[in-house]
Amino acid sequence: MALQRMGIVKNYEDIRKFTVVIVGVGGVGSVTAEMLTRCGIGKVILKEMPNSEHSLTYIYGFQLILFDYDKVELANMNRLFYQPAQAGLSKVTAASMTLTRINPDVKIETYNTNITLTTQFEEFLRVLQTGGISGNRVDLVLSCVDNYEARMTINTACNELALEWFESGVSENAVCGHIQYIVPGESACFACAPPLVVASEIDEKTLKKDGVCAASLPTTMGVVAGLLVQNTLKKLLHFGTISWYLGYNALADFFPSMMIKPNPNCTDSFCLKRQEEFKNRVIEEPVCKNEELPEDKVIHKDNEWGQYSVFQKLY
Ligand SMILES: [Zn+2]
Repeated sequence: MALQRMGIVKNYEDIRKFTVVIVGVGGVGSVTAEMLTRCGIGKVILKEMPNSEHSLTYIYGFQLILFDYDKVELANMNRLFYQPAQAGLSKVTAASMTLTRINPDVKIETYNTNITLTTQFEEFLRVLQTGGISGNRVDLVLSCVDNYEARMTINTACNELALEWFESGVSENAVCGHIQYIVPGESACFACAPPLVVASEIDEKTLKKDGVCAASLPTTMGVVAGLLVQNTLKKLLHFGTISWYLGYNALADFFPSMMIKPNPNCTDSFCLKRQEEFKNRVIEEPVCKNEELPEDKVIHKDNEWGQYSVFQKLY
Protein backbone atom coordinates (compact mmCIF):
# COMPACT_ATOMS: atom_id res chain seq x y z
CA MET A 1 0.00 0.00 0.00
CA ALA A 2 2.98 2.30 0.63
CA LEU A 3 3.93 1.71 -3.01
CA GLN A 4 0.60 3.23 -3.96
CA ARG A 5 1.03 6.22 -1.64
CA MET A 6 4.45 6.88 -3.11
CA GLY A 7 3.06 6.83 -6.61
CA ILE A 8 5.05 3.81 -7.83
CA VAL A 9 2.08 1.52 -8.34
CA LYS A 10 -1.51 2.64 -8.89
CA ASN A 11 -3.25 -0.64 -8.19
CA TYR A 12 -1.20 -2.92 -5.93
CA GLU A 13 -4.36 -4.66 -4.76
CA ASP A 14 -4.75 -6.07 -8.25
CA ILE A 15 -1.94 -8.48 -7.37
CA ARG A 16 -4.67 -10.66 -5.86
CA LYS A 17 -6.37 -11.09 -9.21
CA PHE A 18 -3.53 -12.73 -11.09
CA THR A 19 -2.70 -16.31 -11.80
CA VAL A 20 0.94 -17.05 -12.47
CA VAL A 21 2.32 -20.38 -13.60
CA ILE A 22 5.89 -21.30 -12.71
CA VAL A 23 7.37 -24.15 -14.71
CA GLY A 24 10.39 -25.56 -12.89
CA VAL A 25 10.80 -24.92 -9.15
CA GLY A 26 14.55 -25.45 -8.86
CA GLY A 27 17.18 -22.85 -7.94
CA VAL A 28 15.46 -19.95 -9.75
CA GLY A 29 11.80 -21.09 -9.77
CA SER A 30 11.54 -21.82 -6.04
CA VAL A 31 12.90 -18.38 -5.10
CA THR A 32 10.59 -16.82 -7.69
CA ALA A 33 7.63 -18.64 -6.11
CA GLU A 34 8.62 -17.44 -2.63
CA MET A 35 8.91 -13.81 -3.76
CA LEU A 36 5.51 -13.91 -5.49
CA THR A 37 3.95 -15.59 -2.44
CA ARG A 38 5.32 -12.88 -0.17
CA CYS A 39 4.03 -10.21 -2.59
CA GLY A 40 0.52 -11.60 -2.24
CA ILE A 41 0.01 -13.36 -5.56
CA GLY A 42 -2.76 -15.82 -4.98
CA LYS A 43 -4.39 -14.11 -2.04
CA VAL A 44 -8.05 -14.71 -1.50
CA ILE A 45 -10.33 -12.46 -3.48
CA LEU A 46 -13.43 -10.93 -2.00
CA LYS A 47 -16.20 -10.63 -4.51
CA GLU A 48 -19.59 -9.08 -4.08
CA MET A 49 -22.36 -11.57 -4.73
CA PRO A 50 -25.60 -9.55 -4.63
CA ASN A 51 -27.89 -12.57 -4.93
CA SER A 52 -26.07 -14.65 -2.38
CA GLU A 53 -27.02 -15.04 1.28
CA HIS A 54 -23.70 -13.45 2.20
CA SER A 55 -23.01 -10.27 0.30
CA LEU A 56 -19.29 -11.00 0.33
CA THR A 57 -18.14 -14.41 -0.76
CA TYR A 58 -14.66 -15.77 -0.78
CA ILE A 59 -13.64 -16.76 -4.26
CA TYR A 60 -10.57 -18.92 -4.31
CA GLY A 61 -8.49 -19.07 -7.43
CA PHE A 62 -5.58 -21.42 -7.87
CA GLN A 63 -3.37 -18.51 -8.46
CA LEU A 64 0.14 -19.82 -8.12
CA ILE A 65 0.52 -22.94 -10.21
CA LEU A 66 3.73 -24.95 -10.02
CA PHE A 67 5.01 -27.56 -12.49
CA ASP A 68 8.03 -29.77 -11.84
CA TYR A 69 8.77 -33.49 -11.90
CA ASP A 70 12.01 -33.49 -9.91
CA LYS A 71 12.74 -34.41 -6.31
CA VAL A 72 14.56 -32.34 -3.71
CA GLU A 73 18.16 -33.57 -3.39
CA LEU A 74 20.80 -32.94 -0.74
CA ALA A 75 23.20 -32.03 -3.54
CA ASN A 76 21.05 -28.93 -4.23
CA MET A 77 21.43 -27.46 -0.75
CA ASN A 78 23.91 -24.81 -1.95
CA ARG A 79 20.85 -23.17 -3.48
CA LEU A 80 18.16 -21.21 -1.69
CA PHE A 81 14.69 -22.28 -0.49
CA TYR A 82 14.70 -26.06 0.06
CA GLN A 83 15.88 -27.60 3.33
CA PRO A 84 17.76 -30.85 4.02
CA ALA A 85 14.73 -32.38 5.78
CA GLN A 86 12.80 -32.09 2.52
CA ALA A 87 15.21 -34.33 0.59
CA GLY A 88 13.33 -37.05 -1.26
CA LEU A 89 10.07 -35.11 -1.47
CA SER A 90 8.87 -33.95 -4.86
CA LYS A 91 9.86 -30.32 -5.41
CA VAL A 92 6.28 -29.20 -5.93
CA THR A 93 5.11 -30.84 -2.67
CA ALA A 94 7.99 -29.39 -0.66
CA ALA A 95 7.53 -25.97 -2.26
CA SER A 96 3.79 -25.96 -1.65
CA MET A 97 4.30 -26.82 2.05
CA THR A 98 6.85 -24.05 2.59
CA LEU A 99 4.94 -21.42 0.62
CA THR A 100 1.71 -22.17 2.48
CA ARG A 101 3.52 -21.70 5.80
CA ILE A 102 4.90 -18.35 4.59
CA ASN A 103 1.52 -17.04 3.44
CA PRO A 104 -1.47 -19.25 4.23
CA ASP A 105 -3.78 -17.10 2.10
CA VAL A 106 -2.00 -18.19 -1.03
CA LYS A 107 -3.70 -20.88 -3.00
CA ILE A 108 -1.18 -23.13 -4.65
CA GLU A 109 -1.86 -25.78 -7.26
CA THR A 110 0.87 -28.27 -8.05
CA TYR A 111 1.58 -30.63 -10.94
CA ASN A 112 4.27 -33.24 -10.44
CA THR A 113 4.57 -33.79 -14.18
CA ASN A 114 7.01 -33.50 -17.03
CA ILE A 115 5.43 -31.15 -19.58
CA THR A 116 7.74 -32.33 -22.36
CA LEU A 117 6.01 -35.73 -22.47
CA THR A 118 3.30 -35.73 -25.12
CA THR A 119 0.88 -37.32 -22.65
CA GLN A 120 1.36 -34.40 -20.24
CA PHE A 121 1.36 -31.60 -22.80
CA GLU A 122 -2.43 -31.56 -23.23
CA GLU A 123 -2.88 -31.18 -19.48
CA PHE A 124 -0.33 -28.34 -19.48
CA LEU A 125 -2.28 -26.57 -22.26
CA ARG A 126 -5.54 -27.08 -20.37
CA VAL A 127 -4.09 -25.58 -17.18
CA LEU A 128 -2.80 -22.54 -19.08
CA GLN A 129 -6.20 -22.09 -20.73
CA THR A 130 -8.43 -22.61 -17.71
CA GLY A 131 -6.24 -22.35 -14.59
CA GLY A 132 -6.98 -18.66 -13.97
CA ILE A 133 -9.64 -17.18 -11.74
CA SER A 134 -13.16 -18.33 -12.67
CA GLY A 135 -11.80 -20.77 -15.22
CA ASN A 136 -10.14 -18.11 -17.34
CA ARG A 137 -6.70 -18.45 -18.87
CA VAL A 138 -3.73 -17.75 -16.64
CA ASP A 139 -2.14 -14.30 -16.73
CA LEU A 140 1.51 -15.16 -17.12
CA VAL A 141 3.87 -18.11 -17.45
CA LEU A 142 7.36 -18.04 -15.95
CA SER A 143 9.87 -20.50 -17.34
CA CYS A 144 12.45 -21.48 -14.73
CA VAL A 145 13.52 -24.74 -16.36
CA ASP A 146 17.07 -25.89 -17.02
CA ASN A 147 16.86 -27.43 -20.48
CA TYR A 148 16.12 -26.57 -24.08
CA GLU A 149 13.35 -29.12 -24.57
CA ALA A 150 11.21 -27.77 -21.73
CA ARG A 151 11.72 -24.19 -22.94
CA MET A 152 10.57 -25.21 -26.42
CA THR A 153 7.51 -26.92 -24.93
CA ILE A 154 6.52 -23.76 -23.06
CA ASN A 155 7.22 -21.76 -26.24
CA THR A 156 4.96 -24.02 -28.31
CA ALA A 157 2.11 -23.77 -25.79
CA CYS A 158 2.37 -20.00 -25.37
CA ASN A 159 2.55 -19.38 -29.14
CA GLU A 160 -0.52 -21.54 -29.63
CA LEU A 161 -2.49 -19.74 -26.89
CA ALA A 162 -1.00 -16.27 -27.62
CA LEU A 163 0.08 -16.15 -23.99
CA GLU A 164 2.83 -13.87 -22.72
CA TRP A 165 5.68 -15.47 -20.80
CA PHE A 166 9.10 -14.87 -19.32
CA GLU A 167 12.01 -17.14 -20.04
CA SER A 168 14.89 -17.27 -17.55
CA GLY A 169 18.14 -19.13 -17.26
CA VAL A 170 21.49 -19.46 -15.56
CA SER A 171 24.59 -20.64 -17.43
CA GLU A 172 26.29 -23.96 -16.65
CA ASN A 173 29.33 -22.15 -15.24
CA ALA A 174 27.02 -20.35 -12.76
CA VAL A 175 28.23 -16.82 -13.50
CA CYS A 176 25.82 -15.70 -16.24
CA GLY A 177 22.07 -15.45 -16.35
CA HIS A 178 19.25 -13.83 -18.26
CA ILE A 179 15.55 -13.15 -18.41
CA GLN A 180 13.54 -12.65 -21.60
CA TYR A 181 10.00 -11.30 -21.99
CA ILE A 182 8.20 -13.01 -24.86
CA VAL A 183 5.01 -11.62 -26.38
CA PRO A 184 3.99 -13.96 -29.23
CA GLY A 185 4.04 -12.08 -32.52
CA GLU A 186 5.59 -8.91 -31.11
CA SER A 187 8.97 -10.13 -29.88
CA ALA A 188 11.13 -13.08 -30.89
CA CYS A 189 9.83 -16.36 -29.53
CA PHE A 190 12.24 -18.98 -28.21
CA ALA A 191 12.25 -20.75 -31.60
CA CYS A 192 12.88 -17.47 -33.50
CA ALA A 193 16.37 -17.09 -32.08
CA PRO A 194 17.49 -20.46 -30.81
CA PRO A 195 20.56 -20.73 -28.61
CA LEU A 196 23.92 -21.62 -30.10
CA VAL A 197 23.60 -25.30 -29.23
CA VAL A 198 20.55 -25.67 -31.44
CA ALA A 199 21.68 -23.33 -34.20
CA SER A 200 24.80 -25.47 -34.54
CA GLU A 201 22.73 -28.67 -34.46
CA ILE A 202 24.56 -29.99 -31.43
CA ASP A 203 22.55 -32.48 -29.42
CA GLU A 204 22.07 -30.91 -26.01
CA LYS A 205 22.29 -34.32 -24.32
CA THR A 206 25.77 -34.96 -25.70
CA LEU A 207 27.05 -31.87 -23.91
CA LYS A 208 26.32 -33.36 -20.53
CA LYS A 209 29.22 -35.48 -19.38
CA ASP A 210 28.56 -38.33 -16.99
CA GLY A 211 29.53 -37.52 -13.45
CA VAL A 212 30.03 -33.83 -14.20
CA CYS A 213 27.26 -31.64 -12.94
CA ALA A 214 26.67 -28.01 -13.79
CA ALA A 215 28.05 -25.45 -11.38
CA SER A 216 25.53 -23.35 -9.46
CA LEU A 217 25.65 -20.39 -7.13
CA PRO A 218 22.75 -19.21 -4.96
CA THR A 219 23.88 -15.64 -5.68
CA THR A 220 23.42 -15.78 -9.47
CA MET A 221 20.16 -17.70 -9.11
CA GLY A 222 18.90 -15.18 -6.55
CA VAL A 223 19.76 -12.24 -8.84
CA VAL A 224 18.01 -13.87 -11.82
CA ALA A 225 14.92 -14.70 -9.72
CA GLY A 226 14.88 -11.10 -8.44
CA LEU A 227 15.04 -9.70 -11.98
CA LEU A 228 12.35 -12.12 -13.10
CA VAL A 229 9.91 -11.23 -10.32
CA GLN A 230 10.65 -7.50 -10.61
CA ASN A 231 9.71 -7.59 -14.29
CA THR A 232 6.71 -9.81 -13.53
CA LEU A 233 5.40 -7.22 -11.06
CA LYS A 234 6.03 -4.40 -13.56
CA LYS A 235 4.12 -6.32 -16.23
CA LEU A 236 1.16 -7.29 -14.04
CA LEU A 237 0.80 -3.98 -12.20
CA HIS A 238 1.71 -1.70 -15.10
CA PHE A 239 4.61 0.31 -13.73
CA GLY A 240 8.10 1.06 -14.99
CA THR A 241 9.52 -0.42 -18.17
CA ILE A 242 9.77 -4.15 -18.78
CA SER A 243 13.05 -5.49 -20.14
CA TRP A 244 12.62 -7.56 -23.29
CA TYR A 245 15.93 -9.30 -22.72
CA LEU A 246 18.14 -8.63 -19.73
CA GLY A 247 21.40 -10.48 -19.28
CA TYR A 248 23.59 -10.70 -16.19
CA ASN A 249 27.31 -11.33 -16.26
CA ALA A 250 28.44 -11.77 -12.67
CA LEU A 251 32.17 -11.51 -13.45
CA ALA A 252 31.88 -7.95 -14.71
CA ASP A 253 28.54 -6.91 -13.19
CA PHE A 254 27.41 -6.31 -16.75
CA PHE A 255 23.67 -6.24 -17.61
CA PRO A 256 23.18 -6.25 -21.40
CA SER A 257 19.68 -5.35 -22.52
CA MET A 258 18.09 -5.65 -25.95
CA MET A 259 14.90 -6.27 -27.89
CA ILE A 260 14.81 -9.16 -30.32
CA LYS A 261 12.37 -8.94 -33.18
CA PRO A 262 10.42 -12.00 -34.32
CA ASN A 263 11.94 -14.06 -37.08
CA PRO A 264 9.72 -14.09 -40.21
CA ASN A 265 11.14 -17.55 -40.97
CA CYS A 266 10.44 -19.00 -37.52
CA THR A 267 9.81 -22.76 -37.57
CA ASP A 268 6.80 -22.45 -35.24
CA SER A 269 3.66 -21.98 -37.35
CA PHE A 270 1.75 -20.38 -34.46
CA CYS A 271 4.55 -17.83 -34.08
CA LEU A 272 4.08 -16.83 -37.75
CA LYS A 273 0.32 -16.56 -37.17
CA ARG A 274 0.86 -14.31 -34.13
CA GLN A 275 3.29 -12.17 -36.15
CA GLU A 276 0.56 -11.61 -38.79
CA GLU A 277 -1.96 -10.74 -36.08
CA PHE A 278 0.46 -8.31 -34.47
CA LYS A 279 1.15 -6.58 -37.82
CA ASN A 280 -2.60 -6.18 -38.41
CA ARG A 281 -3.09 -4.88 -34.87
CA VAL A 282 -0.39 -2.25 -35.32
CA ILE A 283 -2.00 -1.11 -38.60
CA GLU A 284 -5.46 -0.95 -37.01
CA GLU A 285 -4.43 0.65 -33.72
CA PRO A 286 -1.12 2.42 -34.12
CA VAL A 287 0.49 2.82 -30.73
CA CYS A 288 3.26 5.17 -29.80
CA LYS A 289 5.75 3.46 -27.57
CA ASN A 290 8.60 5.13 -25.80
CA GLU A 291 10.70 2.06 -26.00
CA GLU A 292 13.72 2.30 -28.17
CA LEU A 293 13.79 -0.51 -30.69
CA PRO A 294 17.43 -1.01 -31.58
CA GLU A 295 16.82 -1.80 -35.24
CA ASP A 296 20.26 -0.73 -36.33
CA LYS A 297 22.08 -2.09 -33.34
CA VAL A 298 24.32 -4.92 -34.42
CA ILE A 299 24.74 -7.54 -31.77
CA HIS A 300 27.98 -9.29 -32.53
CA LYS A 301 27.78 -12.99 -33.02
CA ASP A 302 30.93 -13.58 -31.01
CA ASN A 303 30.20 -11.23 -28.16
CA GLU A 304 31.86 -12.39 -25.00
CA TRP A 305 28.93 -11.81 -22.71
CA GLY A 306 26.92 -14.81 -21.74
CA GLN A 307 25.85 -17.94 -23.49
CA TYR A 308 23.33 -16.52 -25.93
CA SER A 309 25.80 -15.16 -28.40
CA VAL A 310 23.56 -16.09 -31.33
CA PHE A 311 21.19 -13.20 -30.62
CA GLN A 312 22.35 -11.48 -33.75
CA LYS A 313 20.38 -9.04 -35.80
CA LEU A 314 17.69 -11.10 -37.48
CA TYR A 315 16.79 -8.80 -40.32
ZN1 LIG B 1 9.09 -17.57 -33.40
